[in-house]
Amino acid sequence: MSKTNGKDADGPEPGKIRETASQGDAGHRTKGKETEKKAEKKAKRSAKKAAKQEARTRRLDDHPPSSAAWARAADAGMGTAPSLSPHRHPRLARAAPGIVTVEPGTRFALASVDADATGGLDKAEAKAALADERERIKALQEKLYAEHARSLLVVFQAIDTGGKDGTIRSVLEGVNPQGCRVWSFKVPSAEELDQDFLWRYHARAPGRGLIGVFNRSHYEDVLVVRVKGLVPEETWRERYGLINDFERLLTLSGTTILKFFLHISKDEQKERLEARLEDPDKHWKFDPADLTERKSWDAYRTAFDDALSRCSTPYAPWHVVPANRKWARNLMVARTIADTLEAMDPRFPPAREGLAGLKVPD
Ligand code: AMP
Ligand code: MG
Repeated sequence: MSKTNGKDADGPEPGKIRETASQGDAGHRTKGKETEKKAEKKAKRSAKKAAKQEARTRRLDDHPPSSAAWARAADAGMGTAPSLSPHRHPRLARAAPGIVTVEPGTRFALASVDADATGGLDKAEAKAALADERERIKALQEKLYAEHARSLLVVFQAIDTGGKDGTIRSVLEGVNPQGCRVWSFKVPSAEELDQDFLWRYHARAPGRGLIGVFNRSHYEDVLVVRVKGLVPEETWRERYGLINDFERLLTLSGTTILKFFLHISKDEQKERLEARLEDPDKHWKFDPADLTERKSWDAYRTAFDDALSRCSTPYAPWHVVPANRKWARNLMVARTIADTLEAMDPRFPPAREGLAGLKVPD
């Protein structure tokens, strides 16, 4: 983005106008003075306009021209890329204890997080607390829906068997289905592949008043796509910045974004895959392709580490949830969603005027 350097886009610099005006004809003093006054007024107007323009530019400069800056900052481990100005900052809540939020602009590694962590909870307490969090979510969702002004997008990513389906089922139990949309993203269709990679996600972003849930998301396009080499490296590499831009667009349009990475260990995945094989009621969930994907565990880890580092921004940070223990995972996610909704502070719209004296006819 270029700065204006105090120049008015529509006219010459204020100083120049004055210079020209003062070169009036000496024989026409009165006329000359009038011209001078007019020129002075014009110069003042131009200066005012230029100052306004500069202020506007400065405001725009508060936002990174391209959010690729965050991806680059993460690679360099700087944590210093430009941030959104406070007045446009979404209202985010601190993640629940136990969750590790990736510091924007820093290098992050999943290896640093213990997948067994419980956030200091015990199982019985967590179950009771989950019921309370669900109630909070339910009550706040009603207000968000009634307010019809903003939205919440909750993104879930994980390795296969990581628990995305189970978390969604547990945490959103009891919310009004009318105010909630859950989307599960699979291998893109031919139609979707004919569009830009964000097309299908943008079309499903939650509208005003809604909670949208992405079970897998636009991150697949830098995860499975990268690991399986479905597009050339230069294509997936530029996607981190594009994803940051996309999320910034949603944020500035009134969507608060919560991104959860459900973190399980390799041993836990083995146990879960075995459980699916052993229990006939879970056979439908067993996809033999998961065994092939498991062989790429390390490649997925590298891809996850990069996505979490490059796409954790101040406006849409990544939250890493230790997810080996389902009961702890559910509570951590539910609490963070409830706290975020509370920070958004949705309100019922004011009653229409004249309601006080109204009577419903028989
Ligand atoms: P599941 O969520 O287990 O039903 O599986 C969905 C499958 O779709 C997974 O294997 C994902 O890796 C795959 N998938 C989702 N999004 C994409 C994408 N953008 N490109 C390629 N594969 C995808
Ligand atoms: Mg699967």
